[in-house]
Amino acid sequence: MDKVKKSPFEKEYEIAWDKYSKADLKKVFDLSDRYMDFMSRCKTERECVEEFRARAKKVGYENLQDLIKQKKSLKPGDKVYAEIMGKTIAFFVIGKKPLESGMSILGAHIDSPRLDLKQNPLYEDADLAMFETHYYGGIKKYQWVTLPLALHGVIVKKDGSRINIVIGEDENDPVLGVSDLLIHLAQDQMKKTLAEGVEGENLNILVGSIPLKDKETKNRVKHNMLNILNEKYGIVEEDFVSAELEIVPAGKARHYGIDKSMIMAYGQDDRVCAYTSFEAIMEIENPEKTSVTLLVDKEEIGSVGATGMHSRFFENTVAEITNLQGDYSELKVRRALTNSKMISSDVSAAFDPNYPEVMDKKNCASFGKGIVFNKYTGSRGKNGSNDANPEFIAELRSIMEKYRVIWQTAELGKVDQGGGGTIAYILANYGMEVIDAGIALHNMHAPWEISSKADLYEAKKAYHAFLNEA
Ligand code: MN
Ligand code: MN
Repeated sequence: MDKVKKSPFEKEYEIAWDKYSKADLKKVFDLSDRYMDFMSRCKTERECVEEFRARAKKVGYENLQDLIKQKKSLKPGDKVYAEIMGKTIAFFVIGKKPLESGMSILGAHIDSPRLDLKQNPLYEDADLAMFETHYYGGIKKYQWVTLPLALHGVIVKKDGSRINIVIGEDENDPVLGVSDLLIHLAQDQMKKTLAEGVEGENLNILVGSIPLKDKETKNRVKHNMLNILNEKYGIVEEDFVSAELEIVPAGKARHYGIDKSMIMAYGQDDRVCAYTSFEAIMEIENPEKTSVTLLVDKEEIGSVGATGMHSRFFENTVAEITNLQGDYSELKVRRALTNSKMISSDVSAAFDPNYPEVMDKKNCASFGKGIVFNKYTGSRGKNGSNDANPEFIAELRSIMEKYRVIWQTAELGKVDQGGGGTIAYILANYGMEVIDAGIALHNMHAPWEISSKADLYEAKKAYHAFLNEA
């Protein structure tokens, strides 16, 4: 008998695992297997866009640019995608209602913190060949030393040809890395703060140590490395100038925990929300309102540039889609945007028993309690936050109940402890209803981030419910 009496009016946040039947568990683990496979292969924005585009095309999505060229029109039920510079992509399923009545939009980002190669990366020091890097996004620099790293990216040659590079993922590939000082010589380093112990300028990658045999040459190790790169990829040193090369943790996503209830992977911020939002829209057929999944680049450095959320890309795409439905007007585009509703999905911080002091236990996310809704984000007095409206949140509560989605609410840490931004406020500029939501992580922005398989499953269910009902 239950001895703990409880008010019938008290809200109890459920643990998803308690609710799962055997059939549910199979679905949870099938989804997490698909997600882990994706995470093991796609570690850059470009790799994500290529994967999502290929999968969408297989199920009948057409390229918006092709439709424009062919002067085709769009009708309800049609599936279309648009992308920009191979780094941001949007998927649309055209609804029965006119676009100006608004869209149901899922948004997430596909860029993640990492080390980018500098413009002139390759140098030789003390008979070692090294790459200079400049970190991308917010990282704790000491976390990026002494672990296996891989190089992913593209080099574009003067003639426009593009070379895709992945080094460090195949088990026969070499891996790269950043060194750290041995403990025996670290007396001075150990007295520094965590922020200063490893400096950004010192995040240099060791890439080679064999010198060219010809002793008359200077920089023999660098010379040898250039020969190897030329032989393997046909590139010369100057080609690094027109390259986008990212250093990321090497290796596959892994089951985490003895019960395999969690996932360890690089770049779960925010590909865990991107992947589930992508799968959710792939299951949408003939919606009432137009469904959208928008997967953007550059969130980690302020959503800037042509491929970031601040760009006109999405607005222009909505204009093109309005045009392909006939009878274009700017007013219709504006109405389509204003009347839309959006779940801006980004990761939350899950309560961590090792660091309880940074959380308000009543208002933080936990593993296994489902998708996390964040009414607001921001920092120091909600600064920079999109503060979602109670009317919209009430509607979402009712949708989540109807679809039996397990959910929780949270804010990122204690008041004045920290905080963060997302893309939510940028879309809210159009006057649409937007809320932040997503999946809670341990180790956010670390090389290996942790998520709960139950939360992954509940998030996908929530996104699907939202596209169906909002
Ligand atoms: Mn994020
Ligand atoms: Mn982030």
